Amino acid sequence: MTRFARRMDKIEISGIRRIFDLIQGMPDAADFSLGQPDFPPPEPVQRAAVEAIRDGRNKYTVTQGMPALVERIRAELGRSAGVRDAGVIVTAGSAGALFLALGVLLEEGEEVIIPDPYFVLYKHLVNFFGGKAVFLDTYPDFRIKPDRLDALITPKTRAILFNNPVNPTGIAYTREEVAAIAAVARRRGVLLISDEIYEAFSYDFAHECALKHDPGAILIGGFSKKYGVTGWRLGYAAGPREIVDKMAMLQQFTFVCAPSTAQSAAIAALDVDMKPVIEAYRRKRDLVVQGLRDRFEIVAPQGAFYVYPKCPWGTDDEFVRRAIESKCLVVPGSACSERKTHFRISYAQSDEILKRGIDALNKIARK
Ligand code: PMP
Repeated sequence: MTRFARRMDKIEISGIRRIFDLIQGMPDAADFSLGQPDFPPPEPVQRAAVEAIRDGRNKYTVTQGMPALVERIRAELGRSAGVRDAGVIVTAGSAGALFLALGVLLEEGEEVIIPDPYFVLYKHLVNFFGGKAVFLDTYPDFRIKPDRLDALITPKTRAILFNNPVNPTGIAYTREEVAAIAAVARRRGVLLISDEIYEAFSYDFAHECALKHDPGAILIGGFSKKYGVTGWRLGYAAGPREIVDKMAMLQQFTFVCAPSTAQSAAIAALDVDMKPVIEAYRRKRDLVVQGLRDRFEIVAPQGAFYVYPKCPWGTDDEFVRRAIESKCLVVPGSACSERKTHFRISYAQSDEILKRGIDALNKIARK
């Protein structure tokens, strides 16, 4: 049997992928499992990608990313966070940015605070780089309490992995909350890594960028969700130049650069108004929450495209098994939490499929 590096012992197959693999044999199921938008990339973005290929822009770009794109991202940051001189690196997805950030920062045995529930990749990446995930339990309202965050910080704490809006709960943080969380990080000298890939999907109030409150933070952003291009692998990181330059050094010898055609298309994407799509997603949020509210305990989600209801009976695995038998594919909470009490719905789906899935879930809400 092949002997693998010990760092691989700490990584398991994602619970979400497992559900995704299951549906391959169930074409008529309502698939609420994967977090990817149901809309195609906007026409000008598609055109820009095709043109980039035809124009011969198929070669490596500089490691940091195409200067025109880097400049656009920096300008956007100036507008959204008032930060004008941040370092910016374009990466292979925001997952690539997270990989680089943790790869250059994390020393063996150092702790990373991860609010629970969390995006599944955080825990595995921290483990992969020899760090220790320290979970900040946010149940039952899924909001970070600054004093509880403060209490978890030790001399070994290297970073806080903050996500806003949150996958899987759909929670979005207000300006006051972001300010309070950033204040803890600043006061305790802990690096705030703020994953804001869902920033466009903020339905009830304006998204608040963490860089505004902590210029020493690292912002993780992405194009996957907002423009429906999850397969293009395009994201970015922005923050202190010293850190971003170190990430570029690691990118040079790993990903080399982000996909060149996707970078060209992203420049066009930044001119596209996605508000109609976001509006449609707000309606999907309302449809799902209203459809399930009577039979499920739900904390109202304000962003991203997830709802995280409590299982009305059984463990998350038991309830999800029953949901899958009823042809509604959802993800057990324990795929993105240390608890086994909830399940995740991704409502990035057509309204027709949403209605079908809502009916199926309501039917099994009583055992
Ligand atoms: N962060 C969060 C919170 C996510 O939900 C995802 C995708 N599910 C990512 C990062 C990674 O996105 P990508 O690598 O496609 O940019």
